[in-house]
Amino acid sequence: MEILEIIKARDPQEREFHQAVSEVVESIKPVLDRNPEYRSANIVERIVEPERVIMFRVPWVDDQGKVHVNRGYRVEMNSAIGPYKGGLRFHPSVNLGILKFLAFEQVFKNALTTLPMGGGKGGSDFDPKGKTPMEIQRFCQSFMIELSRHIGPNTDVPAGDIGVGAREIGYMFGMYKKLRNEFTGVLTGKRLNWGGSLIRPEATGYGAVYFSAEMLNVTGKTLEGTTSLVSGSGNVAQFTMEKLIELGSKPMTFSDSSGYIYDERGVDRDKLEFIMQLKNVRFGRVKEYAEKYPEAVYTPVDPARDYNPLWDHKADCAFPCATQNEINGKDAANLVKNGVHVVSEGANMPTTPDGVDIFLDSHLLYGPGKAANAGGVSVSGLEMTQNSMRMAWTREEVDQRLQIIMRTIHKMCLDTAEQYGTPLNYVNGANIAGFVKVADSMLDQGIV
Ligand code: GLU
Repeated sequence: MEILEIIKARDPQEREFHQAVSEVVESIKPVLDRNPEYRSANIVERIVEPERVIMFRVPWVDDQGKVHVNRGYRVEMNSAIGPYKGGLRFHPSVNLGILKFLAFEQVFKNALTTLPMGGGKGGSDFDPKGKTPMEIQRFCQSFMIELSRHIGPNTDVPAGDIGVGAREIGYMFGMYKKLRNEFTGVLTGKRLNWGGSLIRPEATGYGAVYFSAEMLNVTGKTLEGTTSLVSGSGNVAQFTMEKLIELGSKPMTFSDSSGYIYDERGVDRDKLEFIMQLKNVRFGRVKEYAEKYPEAVYTPVDPARDYNPLWDHKADCAFPCATQNEINGKDAANLVKNGVHVVSEGANMPTTPDGVDIFLDSHLLYGPGKAANAGGVSVSGLEMTQNSMRMAWTREEVDQRLQIIMRTIHKMCLDTAEQYGTPLNYVNGANIAGFVKVADSMLDQGIV
């Protein structure tokens, strides 16, 4: 039986996981043909099965004294090249299939970063929206009481993802330290005063923009004077816009789960400051941007529509920075039709398989998330390095290293795609380069 049929039969409901595996399996076919030792060691069958999955009850008490129960998870996918590393997501859509897809993607992404990190992902179906700071704190503490048994600076090092930022990392770090009586780099995305790294908040967004600049460079172009479509309005979208503005591109869109903003004049530094205040301090909705800046148009989400109008504007570049499967086939076709010539994914797997096919069949440069958004986890890796050395690098030092890493990832994808006869196919390049590094390490380490 083919591997995809095996995993579908085993866990039929894990659609996003099947999607992530299917793409990788397709890319690595020629690698398996050239290297029979991967087949004889059953590497693919082993790589799609998590080394360990932890599921646990997370009970917590709200401000009214009512008891709630959420489900907590940590998927420890692969530790062949380093301790498990990957974020924690708190969102009502979280389930085992979503976390397995994210952990699987993380394995290949982390392998591309050049740093020694395995892959994992975790989180909870807890919805932080509308919760008070004390409720968030109690939830994080309860989550860490269980998770602390399974992680450690040389075992598994979680970080943030959707719904988990420096505030949540702080509450979890505090509880870990109390339980273990140990101040260690067990989490990344920490605040500066207690072991965090400069540039970590910016890293995913900056990295996605650096990656797009590298892709454009191949065709002799730059970001200067371009226009960009960005989705999302969280950490990744904010710092994508910040770097775009710095490099001379004009971000014209951003969004949240209720709708999106189109600002033809572009988001400038002052407007971005307003978005950061709105989203990070007041926890408001993007709709308010159009009330403050009347030149901007707000369009609410219409569930009856089978495409996202955010992707249907004329522009040069697109940066999906919201969530998985936010660009479907129709959206991808609209992007191509509207003259977009580079797509760099800040989110994880934001494009559906038919959307990816449309990108690959067009002349557009397409940087898949596991390469383009690897800047975040890369600076997490640099945070671990600084923690181990018990020192902290300057902003310039970390940014410099981030730029070198993004350039190296880009070159690795480009060269690998070329080597396998699919020039400029960054999907093949990323999947093959990531796979080979992990697979060779698994061969070296025997059947474990
Ligand atoms: N959640 C981020 C990602 O998708 C960061 C993970 C980390 O820093 O460990 O890569």
